[in-house]
Amino acid sequence: MEFDIYKLLRPNIQNLSPYSSARDEFYGDEGIFLDANENPFPSDFNRYPDPFQRKLKEALAPVKGVRPSEIILGNGSDEILDLIFRSFCIPGKDSVVTIKPSYGMYRVLADLNDLNLIEVALNTEFQIDASSVLKAAEEAKLIILCSPNNPTGNELDRNEIHKILQNFNGIVVIDEAYSDFSDISSAIELLDDYPNLIISQTLSKAYGLAGIRIGIGISSEEIIRVLNTVKPPYNVNAGSQRVALERLKNTETVHKEIIQIKMERSRLFTYLQTNENIIKVYPTEANFILFKVNDANIWYKYLVEKGIVIRNRTNNFGCTNCLRITVGTNEENNRFMEIVDEMKNNPVFQNSIAK
Ligand code: PMP
Repeated sequence: MEFDIYKLLRPNIQNLSPYSSARDEFYGDEGIFLDANENPFPSDFNRYPDPFQRKLKEALAPVKGVRPSEIILGNGSDEILDLIFRSFCIPGKDSVVTIKPSYGMYRVLADLNDLNLIEVALNTEFQIDASSVLKAAEEAKLIILCSPNNPTGNELDRNEIHKILQNFNGIVVIDEAYSDFSDISSAIELLDDYPNLIISQTLSKAYGLAGIRIGIGISSEEIIRVLNTVKPPYNVNAGSQRVALERLKNTETVHKEIIQIKMERSRLFTYLQTNENIIKVYPTEANFILFKVNDANIWYKYLVEKGIVIRNRTNNFGCTNCLRITVGTNEENNRFMEIVDEMKNNPVFQNSIAK
């Protein structure tokens, strides 16, 4: 497919001159810095951070198998998504296509940017149909897909994703916030074939750094260059860059934790599947499990009273009476199972549908 990023950009972004910060005009560690109106008395944080997070990107690039110039970092992946919406979609005019059920932030970003959001329903197994997405996207600028999907947990069919990428002339975002937990490889491997693809990932989940807010956008150098002109100058603070760099020095620990979470996930999955009060447990490649009960509101309230907070997803499309549980530590999951075991003989929780 022919792809011209400049035609896709909002006209005001095509010629945008980014703000030029002191650290854009001189980058280096050596010197007497009297250029940024900082407080000169040394402390951990008296200096502005590197606006392009060079050291962090250099550490991250080999982990992701891309070049540092193919990465943009943001204040959480929510900021990466926001930058994409604001760079490509004209408020009051453009439309964006996504799937339902999926991550609620896509609706908020569309509403914030006054965009028409078209949500294409997944089937009862929460799978995607490329032709329905493409049909809905005939006039759209952006398609945003989430895989593994939140709140369902499953990976979207890679063949259908290929069909969408091959036949859509706008931007396709694949939100891979949970891909570190998946047995299916990241769609990063598709970037060479599709210049209109942007992958969004995060350090909030598998890397255990939700509190420092670092999101990762990966795409062609051309797209990354544009997103860099739109982002706020110092969008990732110095403390966050430092903590993330430390964590990346120790990817072995991260991998060990991922293995443990996946083991706990399968233990929890088997438990839920064998519990007769549970109607259905949905396959997952994420660090959470969606399951269906006879009355999600009653389950939710009961669990909260017992000190266990999970997510009630009953109001999401196709998720009536579904609950979403994040995989916790061994002890946390045991406590959850103990409480659910106690509910077994209580008729309020019993499954009225034969398994
Ligand atoms: N995408 C998905 C699918 C998510 O579930 C979340 C967090 N709940 C995010 C993006 C945002 O993650 P963060 O901003 O912490 O990187």
